[in-house]
Amino acid sequence: MISKINSCIRCLYDTSHPLGLIVDQQGLCSGCKIHEEKDKLDWNFRLDKLKNIVKNYKSKSQKNYDCIIPVTGANDNYYIVHIVKNILELNPLLVCYNKYFNTPLGIRNLANLRIKFNCDILIQNVNPINVKKITQTTIRELGSVYWHVLAGHTVFPVQTAVRYKIPLIIWGAHQGLEQVGMFSHKHEVEMSRRYRKDHDLMSVEPEQLISIFDNINEEDIHQYLYPDDLSLNNIGVRGIYLGNYIRWDPKAQHEKMIKIYNYLTSSFSRTFDHYDYTDCYVYMDLHDKIKIFKHGYSKVTDHACREIRHGRLSREAAINLVKKHRFSETKFEELFCNWLGIKPKGLNFLLDQIRNEKYWYQTGDKDWKFIGNLYKNNKNKYSQGSINFINSSQLKYDEYEDIYITVGKGYP
Ligand SMILES: [Zn+2]
Repeated sequence: MISKINSCIRCLYDTSHPLGLIVDQQGLCSGCKIHEEKDKLDWNFRLDKLKNIVKNYKSKSQKNYDCIIPVTGANDNYYIVHIVKNILELNPLLVCYNKYFNTPLGIRNLANLRIKFNCDILIQNVNPINVKKITQTTIRELGSVYWHVLAGHTVFPVQTAVRYKIPLIIWGAHQGLEQVGMFSHKHEVEMSRRYRKDHDLMSVEPEQLISIFDNINEEDIHQYLYPDDLSLNNIGVRGIYLGNYIRWDPKAQHEKMIKIYNYLTSSFSRTFDHYDYTDCYVYMDLHDKIKIFKHGYSKVTDHACREIRHGRLSREAAINLVKKHRFSETKFEELFCNWLGIKPKGLNFLLDQIRNEKYWYQTGDKDWKFIGNLYKNNKNKYSQGSINFINSSQLKYDEYEDIYITVGKGYP
């Protein structure tokens, strides 16, 4: 059955969005409709609700942490810790899965985070041999260079909750709600094994890497296994999303954090947002190129949709920004190849295999034409528009060369 692709009249998403999206009779998508709740809900009431939920988790003896916050050194980390410490008055344990693709700027921001907020941090360094072995497999079999990061980042906090007996995990916004309106804020959706599998892990649980791909053994993936239900229930582990209780606006939040806590930012060639993913050499680079190969759009479209919905970009200006950035050259592929021990030519051969024929047409041996959304009808009608993001630094930060900082204690 061929289903027709419908585009939203407000944002730039259409019904081919990998998280699933619905466009109604008026042409408005589910993501835009749920976004409207941000201006309708009583956020004071919702914050009170949050305060009520978390007060039961405050450690009575004050000898344990009150909650866990997963951190990376970028994205909304500063804002989440700010809310948890200063508004909810909890004592969090920060936990960080080491993704290995660290930029010096990310290490700096992570160190500054724990110092400014006076927090303890636990960092999980899975041994590099396993991480590389898994990454080689996931590139070949799933067309993903990022699977290990998503798997680690979503499981390490849960394992820590069980191990340290800290039942409450606090996340920022729920991606499914923010992008495609998978849930209403009022559903107060919580962390689940199911969402992790379906969306973060591309429907492949770590255990399946063993059965599908014979060169991965059980000992290679045990760090990525989700705790069993019995362990979770014994501790009462639960993960909540602040975005359900606080009006979520990443751009405004980051700008507040830049001002108060000196969060540093960086520009990227493939998007106009300077605040997300400054901790990583791969996400806004090679991973983003793969995204447009597979799905016909990239992160700049996500950023553009978010800014349209917040009323800071016109649709035309957003299209202009998407067109400007989406095919920009990557800068750090060679770094990745050096780390993994593969040749760029071999990587590019693998990447061509994962180009989705819905969006790419092969015109020659190594030549491809993009046949995805060209926004043709809007041609020559673009307003330039202007949206400002503060660019305070560079990914490389001070004296560091072009290398991944595999383990870094940061400054000072
Ligand atoms: Zn929309």
